[in-house]
Amino acid sequence: MADFPEYRPETLAVRAGQQRSQFGEHSEALYLTSSFVFPSAAQAARRFSGEEEGNVYARFTNPTVTMFEERLAALEGAEDCVATASGMSAIMAAVLAHLKQGDHIVASNSLFGATVQLFNNILSRTGITTTFVSHTDPAAWEAAIRPETKLFFLETPSNPLTEIADIRTLAGIAHARNILVAVDNCFCTPILQRPLDMGADLVIHSATKFLDGQGRVLGGAVCGPKKLTEEVFKYLRTAGPTLSAFNAWVLLKGLETLKLRVEAQSAKAAQLAAWLEAHPKVGRVFYPGLPSHPQYELAKTQQKSGGAIVAFEVKGAREQAWQVVDNCRLLSITANLGDTKTTITHPASTTHGRISPEARAAAGISEGLLRIAVGLEAVEDLQADLERGLSLT
Ligand SMILES: *Cc1c(COP(=O)(O)O)cnc(C)c1O
Repeated sequence: MADFPEYRPETLAVRAGQQRSQFGEHSEALYLTSSFVFPSAAQAARRFSGEEEGNVYARFTNPTVTMFEERLAALEGAEDCVATASGMSAIMAAVLAHLKQGDHIVASNSLFGATVQLFNNILSRTGITTTFVSHTDPAAWEAAIRPETKLFFLETPSNPLTEIADIRTLAGIAHARNILVAVDNCFCTPILQRPLDMGADLVIHSATKFLDGQGRVLGGAVCGPKKLTEEVFKYLRTAGPTLSAFNAWVLLKGLETLKLRVEAQSAKAAQLAAWLEAHPKVGRVFYPGLPSHPQYELAKTQQKSGGAIVAFEVKGAREQAWQVVDNCRLLSITANLGDTKTTITHPASTTHGRISPEARAAAGISEGLLRIAVGLEAVEDLQADLERGLSLT
C-alpha cells in the first residue's frame, strides 16, 4: 500500500488500512450497515455518479470491507485489492472482469477441484474455454497458447502433491503474448510468497483458509494493480458477490496474526515432514521444504518456507491409509485447510474421489496418499496421533 511501503509484514498486518471514526476506537470498527446517508441531494448525486468518493451502498463498498482490502493489499505488495464473498467468487470475478465470450484460459492441471468445475462446467457455458496443462512444464503452457488466450491461471504449491509452478518463467511466457497471469496464493499467503513481485498480474485468495486461519468465515479477494482490479470491482458492484462486513471484520482481525500463525504452522509442518520421511511405514513424503522434493531449489526461490501442507504415502493401499485416519483422536478428519486445528484427509476418496481411478493414478494421487494441513498443536502430539495408526499398518 502506498502509505506504508517502508513497514515490515508484521507491522502491516496489525496497522495497515485502519480508518478510525470520530469516536477514536482503537480496534477496527464493524460497520453493519447496508446503505449510507447523504447530507443533501447534491452530494447523493455526486456519490452515485462517482464524481465524489465515498460509501453509497454495501454491495459497492463498506468501510470495514475497505479496511480488510487495504490491509491485504499492503501484505501482497498490491496497489489495490477487491474483497469477495468466497474464494470461488474471487476467481469468477477475476475471470469475468477480464475475459469475454470466445476467450481462452491456459490453466494448471492440478487446481483446486471447484476451480476446475468452474472453468469446465460454468465458464464454458459463456463461451470461455480452458486448456489444462502440466503444472510443472512451462513448455506445455507455451504450446497451449492460442490467438484468443487471455489468461494463465495457476496455484502453487499444488494440492495435494505440493508441486511447484515456476511463477517467473510462466509470467515471462505470458507477457510476451499480452496474456494476464493470475495466481491463487491460498496455500502460501503473502507471508511466504508474493506472486506480484515475481511477475503475476493478479493474486487471488480464498480468505476462508489461512487469512481467517480459524475456520470461521468464508471470504475471498483479488489483488493487483488498480487498472486490473477496477474491472473486478465493476463486476462485483453489479453482479453482487461482495464480502459481508461481518466477515471482513473477522478477516481483518485474522490478518493481524497471519505471520505468526503461518510461520509457526510451516515450521511444525517441516518437522512433521522430516519425521514422516524417516518413518518405516511411510513411503514418499511431498513437502517443498524437504531437500528430497523434486523442486526444492525452485521452491526456495519463490517461497520463504515449505508451508503448512504435507502429503505422504502410507505403505500399502487405501486400507492402511484409512487406518491412520481412523486412529486419529486429535487431527480433524476434514478437507479444510489453513486452520489452527490440524486436519487430515484421504484425497483419493474425498477431494479427488470423483475423478476416475485411472486419471487419479495419472495425477499421482495414490490410494495410500494422505494430506495433512498442519495447525498450531504441539508437533509431538501430532506425531503421537499419527503413530497410533501407522503402528497398526
Ligand atoms: C478453498 C480454496 C478455494 C475456494 O475458496 P472458497 O473460499 O471455499 O470459495 C480456491 N482455491 C484454493 C486453493 C482453495 O484451497
